[in-house]
Amino acid sequence: MRAKKSLGQNFLMHARIAERIACAAKLAPDAVVFEIGPGTGMLTRELLKCAKKVIALEADRELFEKLQDDFAREITGGRLDLIHGDVRSFDITTLPKKYALVANIPYYLTGDIFRMFLETERQPSSLTLLVQKEVAERIARAKKESILSLSVKAYGTPKLEFRVPRGAFTPAPKVDSAVLTVRDISRKNFPARADEERFFTLIRAGFAHKRKFARKNLSEAGLFPLNAPIYGASGEQASPVLAEKARAEDLPLAAWLALSRG
Ligand code: SAM
Repeated sequence: MRAKKSLGQNFLMHARIAERIACAAKLAPDAVVFEIGPGTGMLTRELLKCAKKVIALEADRELFEKLQDDFAREITGGRLDLIHGDVRSFDITTLPKKYALVANIPYYLTGDIFRMFLETERQPSSLTLLVQKEVAERIARAKKESILSLSVKAYGTPKLEFRVPRGAFTPAPKVDSAVLTVRDISRKNFPARADEERFFTLIRAGFAHKRKFARKNLSEAGLFPLNAPIYGASGEQASPVLAEKARAEDLPLAAWLALSRG
């Protein structure tokens, strides 16, 4: 079967890597896993060894039909629910209250998947994703934040687990990949939707012009009077660095959260 570029198909070649991804997810024996894009089923097979049940959503009809044949026993036994569809129109509320998301995702969906599964009320307990190496590094590193890293850290704790060279896939993608986990997922930073909206408005404005200081970017967007006292809602100093010549990438998550509550 020819891989479809439009669906970001790069299939894992080695069961050993699929096994390492499943291990990185640290699944309990009673875990329910949601897998996006099972493809040829390489990762699905390993997930079925560790979890109680896998719910797998595949957009490619040809692959979906092949998976139905290859996993007929697991489907009949109720251990695998195979769904044909596009994750972007998938109703997350149909998933069980507690589930883990594990997937080797097509690169073109990376941003959508983080947004969909972190911002929803039905968040996964953990997220284990094979993504572009640069993306994993940018999200998991401790210094130099970006809109993407802050939008993940606002909901959980990211960690780069291990790197996967491009040669591990067929066809080989142009870049290397890495397994990124996000644990301790919650919406505790955003008790109300308005807090979340304000946080995203602030970071988008703060990062608008890379060369300008965050304070300047925010004030140009009308979000932060340059002469305003820099204190959070409960009187704590929102961000000492904001008062100085700090760029958005140097401000930690806590500073943005304090600002969005201030
Ligand atoms: N999990 C397999 C593996 O590790 O070998 C395949 C990974 S491949 C990178 C991405 C998979 O996602 C493909 O099977 C592709 O058909 C599927 N896919 C692409 N776009 C999708 C979408 N919008 N919704 C659901 N699945 C999608």
